[in-house]
Amino acid sequence: MTATRVLVLNSGSSSVKYQLLDMADASRLAVGLVERIGEETSRLKHTPLTGGGAEARVFEGPIADHKAALEGVAAELSKDGLGLDSPELAAIGHRVVHGGTKFTQPTVVDADVLAELESLVPLAPLHNPANVTGIEVARSIRPDLPQVAVFDTAFHATMPEAAWRYALDRETADALSIRRYGFHGTSHAYVSRETAKLLGRTPEETNVIVLHLGNGASASAVRGGVCVDTSMGLTPLEGLVMGTRSGDLDPAVIFHLARVGGKSVDEIDALLNKKSGLIGLCGDNDQREVERRRAEGDASAALAFDVYIHRLKKYIGAYAAVLGRVDAVAFTAGVGENSATVREAAISGLEELGLALDGERNAVRADEPRLVSAEYARVAVAVVPTDEELEIATQAYALVRG
Ligand code: ADP
Repeated sequence: MTATRVLVLNSGSSSVKYQLLDMADASRLAVGLVERIGEETSRLKHTPLTGGGAEARVFEGPIADHKAALEGVAAELSKDGLGLDSPELAAIGHRVVHGGTKFTQPTVVDADVLAELESLVPLAPLHNPANVTGIEVARSIRPDLPQVAVFDTAFHATMPEAAWRYALDRETADALSIRRYGFHGTSHAYVSRETAKLLGRTPEETNVIVLHLGNGASASAVRGGVCVDTSMGLTPLEGLVMGTRSGDLDPAVIFHLARVGGKSVDEIDALLNKKSGLIGLCGDNDQREVERRRAEGDASAALAFDVYIHRLKKYIGAYAAVLGRVDAVAFTAGVGENSATVREAAISGLEELGLALDGERNAVRADEPRLVSAEYARVAVAVVPTDEELEIATQAYALVRG
């Protein structure tokens, strides 16, 4: 029997999201989520997708740590005949946020790799520790199985130095590994490829601007399937206006917050990452709420929307300049896939760049990749649902199959 299943784990500090896929046909066998790990009110929601019955099972009660969480997941999968002890399981694919400069490809994790991942924690203190914990726990449950780390930064490793280097003192920057890395890489990789497919071209012949607009948001410029620029930097704070992150600002704002505002580094970190962006501007980070309030005439929601769109437009223009020739702009993630209003506002006025929407097509809701540009437009505008789990499973499976 060929082992074709891949379990994808996305381990956060207090949560684990998972999907079990069968790579023989890229189908999903089960999906689930463990939340509030370490609290009294933890919750495991497991949805089997085999046998026609997609009835979710929910456990509520204390789940002490990531090990208990994964054991809970394994027990649920066993009930559906999909246990982690199955010989059909080929690999476990782990989302790892930061790969630094070392990890630019999916990597089978051994003790050396684990040590290297630990050394990257200072670059992603909020994310990498939980990712590493997830790998360690999965390894303890199935030590014989390949654990494959797939990095959020990897797709951006092809950026030329002119794009990744900050104009900082080189010695200082290099000594501290300060450079632009970029994130959401599995999404940008997947969506840029799917966009080429939608246009009936190969990735090699296609130049795409990908706009990943979720609660976190990033743009990338992809030339011939290769990333040449992206909006997130050393951390996911740079670039677009996000749900709770400021995105770009004058670095001197930070000195001002410290010297004049009397804030500590940790307070500034929290302000820029958690209390800025849409939530800082209008009190809501959910784009649906922002749009609802704006439609009712709420001035601060309208301003938040305008700041968000202004930044987005600037990146579309900048990446058109970086690419020289643009074949498509692709919208993806929660906001990009669902908000016709954001797409409409972002593309309007960009006719000189060859961009124009078809109002009717843009208003349609669908789960399939689709074109929403006007017939006459020189550059395609696409809505392409992202699938980071499928991309992680695809990369992990390709690696273990050789
Ligand atoms: P994450 O970055 O957490 O993975 P998602 O890609 O799931 O985020 O996107 C979450 C965002 O998508 C939220 O801000 C949510 O408001 C937004 N969103 C979801 N549906 C809609 C919609 N119909 N209109 C506007 N925004 C939406």
